[in-house]
Amino acid sequence: MGTRPYRGRLAPTPTGFLHVGHARTFALAARRAHGAGGSLLLRMEDLDTARCRPGFASAALEDLRWLGLDWSEGPDKGGPFAPYAQSARTPWFREVWRQLRATGLIYPCDKSRADVERALSAPHAEEDAEPIFPPELRPAPGAGADAVEPGPSNWRFRVPDGEAVAFTDALQGPRRLVAGEDFGDFLVWRRDGLPSYELAVVADDRAMGVTEVVRGADLLVSTARQLLLYRALGWEPPAWAHAPLVTGPDGRRLAKRAGGFSIRELRRKGRTPEEVLSAPIGTLG
Ligand code: GLU
Repeated sequence: MGTRPYRGRLAPTPTGFLHVGHARTFALAARRAHGAGGSLLLRMEDLDTARCRPGFASAALEDLRWLGLDWSEGPDKGGPFAPYAQSARTPWFREVWRQLRATGLIYPCDKSRADVERALSAPHAEEDAEPIFPPELRPAPGAGADAVEPGPSNWRFRVPDGEAVAFTDALQGPRRLVAGEDFGDFLVWRRDGLPSYELAVVADDRAMGVTEVVRGADLLVSTARQLLLYRALGWEPPAWAHAPLVTGPDGRRLAKRAGGFSIRELRRKGRTPEEVLSAPIGTLG
């Protein structure tokens, strides 16, 4: 923030074709980087090898180029912070896991989703909101203190219950989320050997010198979690700009597989980049 030259990023996840919501968020990220006279990198968030497909990764690059977006570093171009695909960055994620382990703020967790559901007194309200991990399922302090590798275990970050995490978003204004109320202990490592989304993104934004994160407003709660990781690691966080979510004609947000609203499909129907980026949603599709 502040004195560092602006570095932004595009971070597509290749589990499907990008849709009009992605198009608009990424175009905004590109505009902000350009407007600040900064640089823009592209990082392919292809960690989840079971769900990501190389075909979707190349389609994402192609769709973004068709929209007129450009980046100066990426999997297709290389650059000083290579590799630009998260699947190739595991040694760095393990190093960040080690740094977090040394803080004593993360613990191995063998609780299943069913254990969590059972311990919750009320069902969680929002359909896709992650349930708050029940504090009574935490192990005693010091659990995992002697681990040198994450091993085949989930690891969670112990959130400071009741503490507010506040930040000012360039687009959404001041935000305040309370640990233990708005979100609970979250995953930093998965038993299948992969870092969680929160760990991977913080680790990479730090390593790649990103100064502002532009992404969808569906990730506002993640930002609070990520700020706790930055603090635990003693790293300066980037600035934040969360783009308003694009909703479909039914008022619901576009899902990953947004069918008729994928950039591919709109291209096939002869829509122009300008239409994909700015026409009212009801007129597309
Ligand atoms: N890769 C994520 C997505 O496509 C975005 C992550 C981020 O911007 O932090 O939804």
